[in-house]
Parts: sequence; structure tokens; C-alpha cells
Amino acid sequence: MKKKHLAMLLSRLQGFETPKLELEQYRTPGNVAAELLWMAAQWGDIEGKIVADLGAGTGVLAIGAKLLGAERVYAVEIDEAALEVARRNAERTGVELEFLHMDVSEFSKKVDTVLMNPPFGSQIKHADRPFLVKAFEVAEVVYSIHLAKPEVRNFLKTFSKEHNFIPKVLSTVYFEIPAQFFFHRKRLERITTDLYRLEKAPSKDI
Ligand code: SAH
Repeated sequence: MKKKHLAMLLSRLQGFETPKLELEQYRTPGNVAAELLWMAAQWGDIEGKIVADLGAGTGVLAIGAKLLGAERVYAVEIDEAALEVARRNAERTGVELEFLHMDVSEFSKKVDTVLMNPPFGSQIKHADRPFLVKAFEVAEVVYSIHLAKPEVRNFLKTFSKEHNFIPKVLSTVYFEIPAQFFFHRKRLERITTDLYRLEKAPSKDI
């Protein structure tokens, strides 16, 4: 499969039926998801790996990971209605996911790779923190999407370091969000996001 095809396929999946503002339910755009997944695959972090998608929403990242050869993918999501959409999307695409209806803080499996598009924290400040904390706890490699703003970049540097992780911005891309989330009149709001690879720092006592 080519990156372009993956992007197209993912962008055709069903979106949130009634997006919940407080959960920051905007789907990961197909092109953004494909970009993140493609890079993760090139780093060797998808094929044959156990993957978790934290805050899986409609399942875009989880489904993409499975299509690129992940052995097992956990789709962790607090909202049952979103999980229902993810189930339908997976079925339509012909992939099998392990659906877990829970708060990300409750997820307790060790995985090779975490993929996530956490809430950006535009509705509830620091809403991305429980996601990062959990990702750092269960995996040694994490791919995540965050706003491309100096304060967010600085926060990620400090917070990762505190958890013994090294953050790297792999690319910076536009991300389209339906305007309802920003109370704008425009149909779509285009924001700029950083695609991160965060890797556990080598142990100091070697
Ligand atoms: N990649 C997803 C978009 C994720 S949006 C997609 O393309 O559909 C962020 C998701 O995190 C939302 O689905 C939201 O319901 C979920 N979420 C927010 N807080 C959560 C929490 N504490 N535990 C689990 N999921 C959560």
C-alpha cells in the first residue's frame, strides 16, 4: 500500500456522529494519520508489533496500524458512541482490533508502540497529560500529535525529560478541525500540528 492510498482510505472512514466538545472529539484527518503511521512504519515500530491507540475515537490510527501489519492493536476509548463508530469502521475495512472501553489511565497492558492523537487541551487545559503519562508507562516508543506552538513544544521537552523520554518532532503538518470546536463561522479550522516520536532514553547504568 502507498501512503497516498492509506490517507485516502482513512479519510473515508466514518467520523464522530455527535462529537463531544469536552472530550475534544475531532478525528485525525486521513493525511495526518497516514503521515504519522508511515513514519512509524519506517522506524520499524508497526509491522509485527503490539500497538495501542490511546483515545482511539473513530479508530483511524488503530485501523491504519493494522493495515500496515501490526500484530495486535488495542483501541482504548472512554466514549462508547465513538467506540461503536470505530467498530463499524474496522469491520468495513476488514481489520480486527481489540476494543477497550475505558479511561486511558486504566489501560494496563505493555505494548511495543503507542500511537495517539490526544485532546490538544483547547477545551480542558492539560487534557493531553494523562495520555502522555500512560504512554510513557506502557511503551518505549510513542507517536503523538500536538499543537505546533512554542509553549507546547517546551512543555513536551520538559515533561518527556521528567519521564525519561526523548521527544523528536518528525514533521509539522496542517490539521483540519470542524469549526464547531472553535466557535468559528468558517466550516473548517486549519491548525498546525507537530508529529512526534518520543523514545525512552537509554538507561544510564549501562
Ligand atoms: N484518532 C481519533 C481522534 C481522537 S480525538 C480519531 O481519528 O477518531 C481524542 C479521543 O480521545 C476522543 O475520541 C475522546 O473521546 C478520547 N478521550 C478523551 N479523554 C479520554 C480519556 N480520559 N480516556 C480515553 N479516551 C479519551
